[in-house]
Amino acid sequence: MRNLPCLHLRIRRLPLPDPSTMQGRISVLRIPSMLVILPSLQMNRSKKILAVFGSTGSIGRNTLEVARRHPDHFSVRYLTGNSNAELLIEQIRAVRPAAVAVSDPVARNTVRDAVGDLTTVLNGANALDEIAGRDDYDTMVSGLVGFAGLLPTTTAIRAGKSIALANKETLVVAGEIITALAREHNVRILPIDSEHSAIQQCILGEHDADISRIILTASGGPFRGYTAEQLRGVTPAQALKHPNWSMGNKITIDSATMMNKGLEVIEAHWLFGVDPDAIDVVVHPQSIIHSMVEFSDGSVKAQLGIPDMKIPIHYALTWPDRIASDYERMDIARIGTLTFEQPDPETFPCLRLAYDVLRTGGSAAASLNAANEIAVDAFLHGLLPFPGIAEIIEECINQLPQHRLSSIDDVLDADRDARNWTKNRIAKTASQ
Ligand code: NAD
Ligand code: MG
Repeated sequence: MRNLPCLHLRIRRLPLPDPSTMQGRISVLRIPSMLVILPSLQMNRSKKILAVFGSTGSIGRNTLEVARRHPDHFSVRYLTGNSNAELLIEQIRAVRPAAVAVSDPVARNTVRDAVGDLTTVLNGANALDEIAGRDDYDTMVSGLVGFAGLLPTTTAIRAGKSIALANKETLVVAGEIITALAREHNVRILPIDSEHSAIQQCILGEHDADISRIILTASGGPFRGYTAEQLRGVTPAQALKHPNWSMGNKITIDSATMMNKGLEVIEAHWLFGVDPDAIDVVVHPQSIIHSMVEFSDGSVKAQLGIPDMKIPIHYALTWPDRIASDYERMDIARIGTLTFEQPDPETFPCLRLAYDVLRTGGSAAASLNAANEIAVDAFLHGLLPFPGIAEIIEECINQLPQHRLSSIDDVLDADRDARNWTKNRIAKTASQ
């Protein structure tokens, strides 16, 4: 359909009276004095079977809600969680998955005791990988947070699954390897991140050579406009209050430091093959424009919507089609004003650090990511002041030798070294 824009414009899609007997719609092509009924591409499409990794997290919960609202299109076969046994039990009762992986051993026992008769609760450290490699699902929703997402996502790509990717850290630490692997296995990685979903939609129907610039929008987080002096005193509770989005703790702190936008610059580079110099960031506090693309003729396309992760998740799961939804709609007149500012990389150095490691290449981005995960955790536990997050990451990437990454094992090594270095550095600071 995407190759036939003129035809597409003339097609009206009408719902069938009985969706249980025929999923999807018929297409009615109106040509003057003629009415042709075409079989739709969607007509006999069966349900997409999902494996939701990180189902107890913010992305996971939103994904289950998308699936729950569209039972004709999605069926959830696998769930995974870590320590939130209570929520996982609730999800298992509602979804009835074939199997679940629970990483935390205490939570695993609780889940098994409560709902072991309803599903298989897989044992052991390899449970995530075991599910990722199974052959009876279509799409992995990669919703784990942090480096933990890398191995299961890699396994799913090797198994030829479609990847709906929220776990940006996978592309940050191993972008070159992961994109090569996806090409080798003919796997499409569809971004869930709202900015990248926006870019994906803006470039539909365009030639790669015509893309001249990607403009990622950033909310600016809770500390937009703060001075370096003001940032010294901010607490985890303040940093966890994101103005627009409700997300997991790690990404919320990343948004406050602007590291999230830095990780997204790297993610955009690997997803869309655009040079770091052609990726800009603009602060847009309302989070209504999710990102923009500038083309060679000076035209700029933007994608807009309310800040609701169900929409980009839905798009990643339904691409290349659009399936109707009843999510809240945007009322642009009520929003009234959209504003834009330059980011402030002096006060928020994480954004600059992300550009630096992207230009350096090799293991530098894996070091940045590992140092960031450790530093964010230390900040949340009161072991590091807020500006200490960027300081320690910068020190880590300057101190550690950087290598070329030729395999996932190389990435694991780089991650481990940077984690150890950062933990030791924080422990030393704390004991001074
Ligand atoms: P979250 O903290 O809410 O959820 C993380 C999930 O991963 C949970 O199910 C948790 O149990 C699981 N998990 C955490 N550590 C684990 C481990 N070591 N082993 C196994 N499972 C583990 O995080 P989130 O906000 O849903 O974010 C998930 C990913 O999506 C992140 O990479 C984030 O950057 C990205 N993302 C999130 C949003 C959002 O709106 N939340 C938007 C864009 C991108
Ligand atoms: Mg984002």
